[in-house]
Amino acid sequence: MNFYSLNQEAPKVSFKDAVIKGIAPDRGLYFPEKITLLPASFFAGITQISNQEIAFNAIHQFVSDEIPNEKLKEILTNVLDFEFPLVEIEKNIATLELFHGPTMAFKDVGARFMANCLSYFSKNEENEVTVLVATSGDTGGAVANGFLGVKGVKVVILYPSGKVSDIQERQLTTLGQNITALKVDGTFDDCQTMVKTAFLDNELIQNMQLTSANSINVARWLPQLFYFLFAYKQLRIAAEEKKTPIQDIVFSVPSGNFGNICAGMVAQRLGMPVAHFIAATNANDTVPQFMKTGSYDPKPSRATISNAMDVGDPSNFIRIRHLFQDDFTKLGKQLSSFSYTDTETRKALLDIYKKSAYIADPHGAIGYLGLKTYQKNHPDVYGVFLETAHPVKFLDIVEETIGQKLDIPIQIQKVMDKEKISISIKSYHELKTYLLNR
Ligand SMILES: *Cc1c(COP(=O)(O)O)cnc(C)c1O
Repeated sequence: MNFYSLNQEAPKVSFKDAVIKGIAPDRGLYFPEKITLLPASFFAGITQISNQEIAFNAIHQFVSDEIPNEKLKEILTNVLDFEFPLVEIEKNIATLELFHGPTMAFKDVGARFMANCLSYFSKNEENEVTVLVATSGDTGGAVANGFLGVKGVKVVILYPSGKVSDIQERQLTTLGQNITALKVDGTFDDCQTMVKTAFLDNELIQNMQLTSANSINVARWLPQLFYFLFAYKQLRIAAEEKKTPIQDIVFSVPSGNFGNICAGMVAQRLGMPVAHFIAATNANDTVPQFMKTGSYDPKPSRATISNAMDVGDPSNFIRIRHLFQDDFTKLGKQLSSFSYTDTETRKALLDIYKKSAYIADPHGAIGYLGLKTYQKNHPDVYGVFLETAHPVKFLDIVEETIGQKLDIPIQIQKVMDKEKISISIKSYHELKTYLLNR
C-alpha cells in the first residue's frame, strides 16, 4: 500500500518508507491511498476469532506484502499479549480498558507495533535509525518500553524537567540500553519545538536517519483502530448472550492529538458499525470550538490534570478533516466534541466512584463526561468510553479526589526503586551536539 502526504507536495511512499520517515519531506502527514471495506463475513464472524486475527485482518491492507504475513502475525502476537476488557459501569455505558499493557497507557500498542515494524525494516540496513520523541508524560514510557533492546534503533526521549509525574519519569529514565532520556529545562512545547527543529536540520538529516514515534507516524497511529474492533467484538458477544439485538454504538474518546479517535474512524471505514464519535477534551478546546464555529484556531497548550491531552494544535485533526473531504456538515454528522474543566473532571471521577465503585483516571473521566453530554439527547445509544491510562499513573489526583488509596500494580512497582538516569539539556544547540557526538 502506498501513502501520500496530506500536503500533496511530496512523492507517494511505501508503508516501509512512511514508517522510517515518520513525516513527509513537505511536512505533511502520510495517509493511506485507499481504505477498503472488510468483507461482511468478517464482521458476522468477529465473535469467533482471536484479537490477533482481528488485528491481522484489519491492518493487512495497509502493510500489504511489505512484511510477510507470517511475520506480521508474529508481530501482532507480541504486541497484543494483554487484555482489552470492556466493563459495563452503568446502563448503556461501558469503559474499554486500554491500560493493561507494560506501561499502563494505551500508547503501548502503537509504540510496540511501530518498534516491531522498524526492527523488521532496519534489519538489513547498515544505517541505524534514531527515534526522536518529545513527551508530556505517557508517550515517553510507552516508546521507551516498546523499543527497548530493538537492534539498529536508538531512542532519544525529550521530557520537560519537573513537569511529568514521578512514575512517568521513572518509566522513561530507568531502562538504559538503547534508550536515552534528555531532561529539558523548559516546557513540553519547548521539547516539541526542539524535535521539530531537528527534523528540519539539514546537517542532522545528512548525518543520521531520524524518525518520530508520535502518532503522526502511521505505524503508531493505525494499530489503534484495533481497540474499536475489540470493543465491538465484546458488545456482540454480550448481545448474543442476552439474546438481544445490538444497540447503536457511540464511542467517546478522550482526545489530545486526535490520533486515537481518528483510528476509530478508520475502523468505521473498514465497515464497523458506529453510530457516532465523541471527542472529549480538557480545557484545550481547539476542536470543540471548531465543531461549534467551523473555524480552526489553534492556541498554545494549557496545563490541566489530564496532562496527556494538553495539546493546543492537535496534529491528527487534519487526518480527520481529510477523511471527510473537509466537509464540515458531513463531519458534524459523525463527530461531536465537548470540553471539560479540571473541576468537572474531578467531580466525574468522584461520581463514577460513588455510583459504580469504579476508579477512572482523569482522561477516562473526561471520556465519560463526553458520553453523558451526548446521551442527554440520545438516551438510547450504547456508549463506550475509552480508559486510556491506569488511574495509578495519576496517583495524587485520583487518591485525593476519591479519598481512597490505590494499589500499585506490578508493572509500576517494578520501576519504583530503580535509579533515574538522564542527561540535562537547555537548548537546541545542546540537543544537536548530543546527537552528532554520540
Ligand atoms: C496520549 C493520550 C491521550 C490522547 O490520545 P490522542 O491520540 O493524542 O488523542 C489520552 N489519554 C492518555 C492517557 C494519553 O496518554
